Amino acid sequence: MRKFIIGGNWKMNRGTPQAAKDMLEEFIRLVREINNVDIFIAPPFTSLGGASILLNTNIKIGAQNMYFEDTGAFTGEISAKFLKTLNVEYIILGHSERRNIFKETDEMINKKLKKALEEGLKPVVCIGEHLEEREAGNTKNVIKRQMEGTFKDLKKEQIIRTVIAYEPIWAIGTGRTATPQQADEVHAYIREILEKTYDANTASSIRIQYGGSVKPNNARELFEMENIDGGLVGGASLEAASFAAIIKAATKEK
Ligand code: PEP
Repeated sequence: MRKFIIGGNWKMNRGTPQAAKDMLEEFIRLVREINNVDIFIAPPFTSLGGASILLNTNIKIGAQNMYFEDTGAFTGEISAKFLKTLNVEYIILGHSERRNIFKETDEMINKKLKKALEEGLKPVVCIGEHLEEREAGNTKNVIKRQMEGTFKDLKKEQIIRTVIAYEPIWAIGTGRTATPQQADEVHAYIREILEKTYDANTASSIRIQYGGSVKPNNARELFEMENIDGGLVGGASLEAASFAAIIKAATKEK
């Protein structure tokens, strides 16, 4: 049995400690009893201090990006070691906005992933296709290529500690969600690749989140699918009530 995992990606929103606290105080109240779902929130770096209100609760702190070196002349970057001093446990890597706007490659994400694992962070690695790629029937090719590059040379004990987030780019921030069947089909394909690369046990243990316009009104039907183990949530994670409703949708058995 895989435990559900739901993460909130605040992107470049709620960027002050106070803005983080305003949401989190209410959110903690709403979900404090929930222990059968792993929950994390990834605020902007400037709100990580404000997010320390989460310490000693069932909600963990995530970050949205990191660099693969420890220290040095890397202007504007932040390392896994620095994040750990702020109680960060989860790290989102390879989000499509990082890949597309900031030109991160599979090779860079692979280096970040290995460093995150070495430092004991819990990586959440995003993969997903563009609309044109889906419409051209290339979704599986894209997923395979991204997995080969992003997870290159990862050992079994490393991949097992990694969460994969399938996020079709055409569904992110657009209000257009993949149908539960569309999402589950890709999740099943991801497991197929994991089984070929590692083994059946590894493939069935790894948690795969769906991301792309997950909202309170569609979360339950997505989470009911066999291969969907939770969600990576952008817009709907910014307000306590909507994010809590999504988490509650994951508390029921499939
Ligand atoms: C995301 O940022 O990963 C995401 C899925 O955003 P949204 O839920 O707003 O589509």
